[in-house]
Amino acid sequence: MEKHHKFSIWYVLVGIWVVLIIHNALYSVFSIETIPYSEFLQLIKKGRIAEVAITQNQIQGRMAGDAGKDKMFRTVRVDPDISQLLEQNNIVFKGEIESTFFRDLLSWIIPVFLFIGIWYFIMKRMAGQQPGFMSLGKNKAKIYMQQDLGIKFDDVAGVDESKQELVEVIDFLKEPKRFTRIGGMIPRGILLVGPPGTGKTMLAKAVAGESGVPFFSLSGSEFVEMFVGLGAARVRDLFVQAKEKAPCIIFIDELDALGKARGIGAYGGHDEREQTLNQLLVEMDGFDPQMGVILMAATNRPEILDPALLRPGRFDRQILVDRPDKKGRADILKVHLKKIQSAADLDVEKIASMTPGMVGADLANLVNEAALLAVRRGKETVGMSEFQEAVERVVAGLEKKNRLINPKEREIVAYHEIGHAIVAMSLPETDPVQKITIVPRGVAALGYTMQVPTEDRFLMKKSELLNRIATLLGGRAAEQIILGDISTGAHNDLAKATNIATSMVKEYGMSEKLGQVYFSKEKQLRYLNIQDLQAPVDYSQATAEIIDTEVRELINKQYNIALSILEENKTALRKSAALLLEKESIDGAQLEKVVKESKSSNN
Ligand code: ADP
Ligand code: ZN
Repeated sequence: MEKHHKFSIWYVLVGIWVVLIIHNALYSVFSIETIPYSEFLQLIKKGRIAEVAITQNQIQGRMAGDAGKDKMFRTVRVDPDISQLLEQNNIVFKGEIESTFFRDLLSWIIPVFLFIGIWYFIMKRMAGQQPGFMSLGKNKAKIYMQQDLGIKFDDVAGVDESKQELVEVIDFLKEPKRFTRIGGMIPRGILLVGPPGTGKTMLAKAVAGESGVPFFSLSGSEFVEMFVGLGAARVRDLFVQAKEKAPCIIFIDELDALGKARGIGAYGGHDEREQTLNQLLVEMDGFDPQMGVILMAATNRPEILDPALLRPGRFDRQILVDRPDKKGRADILKVHLKKIQSAADLDVEKIASMTPGMVGADLANLVNEAALLAVRRGKETVGMSEFQEAVERVVAGLEKKNRLINPKEREIVAYHEIGHAIVAMSLPETDPVQKITIVPRGVAALGYTMQVPTEDRFLMKKSELLNRIATLLGGRAAEQIILGDISTGAHNDLAKATNIATSMVKEYGMSEKLGQVYFSKEKQLRYLNIQDLQAPVDYSQATAEIIDTEVRELINKQYNIALSILEENKTALRKSAALLLEKESIDGAQLEKVVKESKSSNN
């Protein structure tokens, strides 16, 4: 907002300056010298005045200049009667009725017109740059009809899981009536969550493309740059327009720019954002889901969103759009390779294995780079050598931005994740391992092992908790066994394991030394929302020491269990880590197979 104010002030200043210059220039064209009356009298006496015209207030005339050239002059009339003096000196003179037309023209009519002109110019520029000046509150959302977009599901590759979740939305948009007749629950808001460049915008467009409905798109940051009150007006207008075109999709990119939790980063301009956000919430609550307007939004920072946005009835469905694994990258490459002339011997799988950590946008960029290289080399088709060089370039760029992990780190991560998985698999009563991946997720996690509970749990047995701790420590144990060293990658695991162990000792009465006693009164108080931070510690210093040693011992014991499991499965650990490094993600069945094979070959 402020930016635009400054912007217009500058224009006005420049305008004033231009007016002054023109004003002066016009005067100097007519260059009339103003002289004192006394000098005028002297000049008469010297006989240098040729002719004069006398008006009520002033005398204007022509006199012989220094270089023989005539000069115009003007002086203020002092004597009421000078005709005698003029006559005596034989000067031609005439009386004139004062015409102020030119002077008026110069001194204010032209400037006024100039100002109007400049004003008009500014208005036009501003209206062109951003609405809300001329067209107050009218939004910039264009209606993208299907033929304009032309993006189908097939164009978005490597995100099959996300696509699956969107199929239902497409069915709904195609025939909203059929859904509402049956009375099914239709999602209202879908939040696509994932790192930049993974294809969230593309997915939203593809949903519009597949279901053949209009697609309104807006970026969260566009709302916030507006003048106060206009963001909210635009949201209102957007929904009015969308309702007219229903069924349709409204897509808000960078939802976090608009939907940051209220109160976070309370610097200037947040009022506007809050108003806009409130309006969005109002609109989301207000529209009838039967109508067929689906709201989609994208963000790479779901954690900073205002919780109000995520409540049921708003963005209650979240779909993860993750970085692609090797197979995903190969699929994405194939999509983009269709657009260029590639050599017949191009090995897509190999390119995919050279590009760990890259997202769809990086791969699109890579294909483009390779094509440019081929053109520069005067080739007809894009071959492997161009891709090799392009990978080096793109990787160098991404490394600068700190977005790729290096091969050594990948190896550590692979052992670490397999460590979790093998321990989980070997212990009874643990959740089955579903997927192990070293594709980096989000900011913190370098990889992960996904265990899916088979049923909802309300109670946990002591043995299960112990196994869970062992599983959490399996990552570090694997690093220790294979690499003989440990890394910082386990800090999150350690935190979780310690939490469980502490709760076991202090809350669940699962420590033999301490017995069935509850030691977490401060936690209870916090739960009851009693804000007395000086919570009473009602156990002795001696007990505190026992708690500490019990927690430590509990964890150490589980760490040793994890170590011995992995020591036993060392071959499997190596083999499956190699497989994981190659494939980047493997599922539980694949791991099990490797573990079984290694066991039978050992015997
Ligand atoms: P996001 O919205 O997640 O930041 P975009 O959808 O804007 O990412 O993707 C930017 C570009 O990257 C797309 O125009 C496309 O060329 C390419 N791209 C990204 N993801 C994919 C994908 N999964 N399949 C094919 N191309 C992709
Ligand atoms: Zn871990």
